[in-house]
Amino acid sequence: MKPNIGPRIWANSIFLLGSPILVAVWVPMYLYYEGNSAWLWVGLVAGWVLTGLGITVGYHRLFSHRAYQANGLWRAWWLFWGGAAIQNSCLVWSAGHRRHHQHTDTDRDPYSVKHGFWWAHIEWILHSDPVRDDFSNCRDLQKDPLVMAQHKHYWTIVFLAGLFLPLALGSLIGRPIGMFLFAGLLRMVITHQTTFLINSLCHLKGDRPWDEEASAADNWLVAFFTHGEGWHSFHHRFPSDYRNGYFWHNWDPGKWAIWLGSKVGFTRKLRRQKKADEIANRGRSTTEVTV
Ligand SMILES: [Zn+2]
Ligand SMILES: [Zn+2]
Repeated sequence: MKPNIGPRIWANSIFLLGSPILVAVWVPMYLYYEGNSAWLWVGLVAGWVLTGLGITVGYHRLFSHRAYQANGLWRAWWLFWGGAAIQNSCLVWSAGHRRHHQHTDTDRDPYSVKHGFWWAHIEWILHSDPVRDDFSNCRDLQKDPLVMAQHKHYWTIVFLAGLFLPLALGSLIGRPIGMFLFAGLLRMVITHQTTFLINSLCHLKGDRPWDEEASAADNWLVAFFTHGEGWHSFHHRFPSDYRNGYFWHNWDPGKWAIWLGSKVGFTRKLRRQKKADEIANRGRSTTEVTV
């Protein structure tokens, strides 16, 4: 049974289903006819890191979960790059994400995996959601002027970071279209699809060391592509912990960035759940070091 959903949004459907097909055809064609340039790949990686961290460090851990606090510069920076990931404004994203945690695997979970892989992965975005603009669970965010400014100017950020910035930087190396393709379109598709895997694959397959009963699971490969988000078993057990990867060896650039931010005065009050230490130490002969 599908949740209470509205009709299909054709603009979202064409954009989100068409963009992966477009880059799959256009990128090889571009490289064949125009040749390669290392700068295109630098632009792709930089865009993937910045927008991916915008989602995990900003949208997810700071704004949705309040897992730490940050100054205005840090909040504005990650609100910009989170918006550039083209996953809606921080306010809309956080309202849906808080519903996901509060009602996981029920019909009130906007991307419940109980409705199947594709629903949790992308289908839920392709339909209008009657409660999408219900921000009653985000009153705290509505009081943050930076969050509200980002909500208001979301599309300006999307075009600035996804179109004009790649075109401008690409012009410096004589490849405006190539840079738009790599640092704009391709990085958007990669960040989209890997973020979507958290809601689909990471609620279906993987280890569940932190809660065997929950659907949320750890997946190291998804963690690599999402800068640490793939440690989803831990995250659902301790959503307000600033770490997603608990152990020092868990690939989690998100937690490293937040921790580094605290060393230079940008972030503070990083939350760690003591219960996690108890669970981690239970049954272990030695205590693993965490970051
Ligand atoms: Zn989840
Ligand atoms: Zn979360």
